[in-house]
Amino acid sequence: MEKKKEIVMSGIRPTGFLHLGNYFGAIRNYVKMQEQFECYFMVADLHSLTTHPDTKELKTNVERVLAENIACGLNPEKAALYCQSHVYETSELYLYLNMLAYKGELEKTVTFKDKVRQHPENVNAGLLTYPVLQTADIIIHKAKYVPVGKDQEQHLEMARNFANRFNHRYGEIFHEPVAYNDNNAALVKVPSLDGAGKMSKSENGMSTLFLSDEDEMIRKKVMKAKTDSGPTQPNTPKPDYIDNIFGLMQLVSAPEVIAKFEADYNNCNIRYGDLKKQLAEDMVNFISPIREKINSILPDKKYLKEVMEMGAEKANKSANATMKLVREAIGLKYY
Ligand code: ADP
Repeated sequence: MEKKKEIVMSGIRPTGFLHLGNYFGAIRNYVKMQEQFECYFMVADLHSLTTHPDTKELKTNVERVLAENIACGLNPEKAALYCQSHVYETSELYLYLNMLAYKGELEKTVTFKDKVRQHPENVNAGLLTYPVLQTADIIIHKAKYVPVGKDQEQHLEMARNFANRFNHRYGEIFHEPVAYNDNNAALVKVPSLDGAGKMSKSENGMSTLFLSDEDEMIRKKVMKAKTDSGPTQPNTPKPDYIDNIFGLMQLVSAPEVIAKFEADYNNCNIRYGDLKKQLAEDMVNFISPIREKINSILPDKKYLKEVMEMGAEKANKSANATMKLVREAIGLKYY
């Protein structure tokens, strides 16, 4: 008998254009993992309602995220690529898990505190219980590995706590899910071009490189990245904003090119204009083929609908099987 593959689950919110952080933090791993694991990758449309209650753009954004994932190399025939809202059982599991999650621990979540700061006018219960819904998304497939960026580390720790609490109270059903990056490497954080925080869909658009950016826009954004007049002492530690530029180079530039600029920096003869020009061209070479592919997939609405249907079927099959066990374990079976 064929050995059962280990299970992988992750998701991305349809709240805007995907960017380099989503690619290197998440999608790059999705593409590798689909070869070896049983994979569930979802467009987290329900999660997006916590911060984006206006749904006029939702369908367009969902289609875009699907097209962007496929353009990056995700194969909907191999992985289940689906919409969160197409798996109704997730909302049921979310309800059960909410009874095992405490207000105090939810209020301490860093992402919750960030969101409260960003949207003080809309601190809803969905935002507070975001990590609970995320746990339901993951464990409903009994997933073991969750490919995500560094910003999600705390949520995964909470997911392990909730899964364990369920197991202790009602019986062993779930695995403890872990955040995953390729080859046990540290989780990735792609910095913003302004040197402050991470690249993100929702924050300052000029500091984030989107997979749909035109070549000229990529050059413009990279050339605006903050620098200074350069080091005056050999081997000076790099300030954060310079370190970020080198960090971005690590993602897309050739090792010998990086080594040359590192040496120039350490010898105090680096020209930041040249460094940024090089980074801009390497980014253009990396992003433009992905952009072209996104643009060729997006108009094919029939194909995108088929992808969603195929994904929903696979995801529902897995979720239904788990939920049967969950209802029985809780004792919600009377005849
Ligand atoms: P965003 O923060 O841009 O709205 P999501 O919350 O939808 O993105 O996250 C989707 C995935 O992309 C998650 O796995 C998240 O960890 C990853 N991710 C988002 N931004 C970055 C970043 N700057 N660096 C690394 N990974 C990131």
